[in-house]
Amino acid sequence: MANIVAIVGRPNVGKSTFFNRLVEKRQAIMDNESGVTRDRHYGYAEWVGKHFTVIDTGGYVTGSEDVFEGAIREQVEEAMNEASVVIFMADCHDGLTGMDNDFARIVRGLKKPVVIAANKADTAEWSYQSSEFYGLGLGEVFPISSSSGAGTGELLDEVVKHFEDEGTENPDDGIPRIAILGRPNAGKSSFMNALLGKERTIVTDVAGTTRDSINTRYKLYGQDFILTDTAGVRKKSKVHEDIEFYSVMRALQALQDSDVCIIMVDAVRGLEAQDMNLISLALKYKKGLMLMMNKWDLIEKDSNTMNKAKAQLEEKLGHLNWIPQIFTSVTQKQRIFQAIELAVKVYHNRIRKISTSALNDAILPQIDRFPPPALKGKHIKIKYITQLPTHAPTIAFFCNLPQYIKAPYERYLENNIRESFDFEGVPIKLVFRKK
Ligand code: GDP
Ligand code: GDP
Repeated sequence: MANIVAIVGRPNVGKSTFFNRLVEKRQAIMDNESGVTRDRHYGYAEWVGKHFTVIDTGGYVTGSEDVFEGAIREQVEEAMNEASVVIFMADCHDGLTGMDNDFARIVRGLKKPVVIAANKADTAEWSYQSSEFYGLGLGEVFPISSSSGAGTGELLDEVVKHFEDEGTENPDDGIPRIAILGRPNAGKSSFMNALLGKERTIVTDVAGTTRDSINTRYKLYGQDFILTDTAGVRKKSKVHEDIEFYSVMRALQALQDSDVCIIMVDAVRGLEAQDMNLISLALKYKKGLMLMMNKWDLIEKDSNTMNKAKAQLEEKLGHLNWIPQIFTSVTQKQRIFQAIELAVKVYHNRIRKISTSALNDAILPQIDRFPPPALKGKHIKIKYITQLPTHAPTIAFFCNLPQYIKAPYERYLENNIRESFDFEGVPIKLVFRKK
């Protein structure tokens, strides 16, 4: 469980000012660009080595006291439910108001640690006013000035004391990491630009771990994802002007950093050898993958064109026909968000864990129906099946003679697994163990 801090309080007490101070350069929020929805302002912050997510509820409590009920209240409650610690903000200049009491009532109902920030304590005189907020009965009051930063350190010291999580883990864990790969000219840059609009909707730039990759986190249509890129490598390429080599290196690093690869193909040219190489690479690293057949607008179409194109692709893919395809036009903005949605779906398929009982119930009857062919007069008996706790799906089959299972039977098993469980876009590994 990551640490989440929600800042709540009535309008104009200074929540957004404080939020911006906390998340500072990490550049929180995206713009009100069309298509970009935001329920809440999220940002990342760090204090004394502890990382946390901050939610600013300032965006929607804007009305007067009588609109406090209803939707606003719901949204504030939702933010507080997500939070591990709540900062309740009040305003020393205004003193304790009726609406503060309304908020306090909700906050009290939560079984969450609450810290009171008495904001706008810009001077000693104002800071004396803060003692009034002890009257809320919510605990210790910290006089702060969001505009100057005074007192915020003490407040944060108190906040981080309540964290259950060490906070050393990456707040981006659990967010799909997507790499966009493809031949030059397939439309990769256009795709990124189309997704992001002119103003970039960057939530945060997170420096890569060991390599020089830049992972940029986005929120679009309510969907969080990270595009993995490796800008750092590009800079180093000054030494040798071997653009081709560095673009391959970049692609490889982005791929290794990702959970899912979108392999972008120029639909006019169709699937070519270089695309197959990228597919092999993704398979080698056990990444989720999908094909984005772009420039679909350039294809002359009748009602059956897409079906024919799909059939052709599947023929080329052979037993890799579980790799999903989407037909897009980046320039016409056709299905580009669906492409991201598909990548996110593949991400979820890749982290899917099937229970041992569900696996055995589904697959053992198929094995009974068509058992592994005997070899050298010996019968092969598969006793049970379990998914191993690995990153990418690995299914273990326990049997008497694991070395006797041959590739065609392996494929039979894989097909059965894919028919019973949704592993679309995900390479699955089968292992055979002696039991
Ligand atoms: P929100 O509605 O709670 O998010 O409040 P804002 O952050 O938008 O701030 C409301 C007003 O209070 C703005 O005019 C801020 O400049 C002002 N403000 C915020 N923090 C302070 C502070 O520490 N001292 C003073 N004097 N004004 C502040
Ligand atoms: P990259 O090398 O993969 O980054 O490809 P670019 O994004 O630079 O695109 C290469 C060319 O293809 C540019 O002229 C784009 O305008 C064009 N292009 C990209 N997507 C589409 C599309 O969906 N339809 C059409 N007709 N052209 C596209």
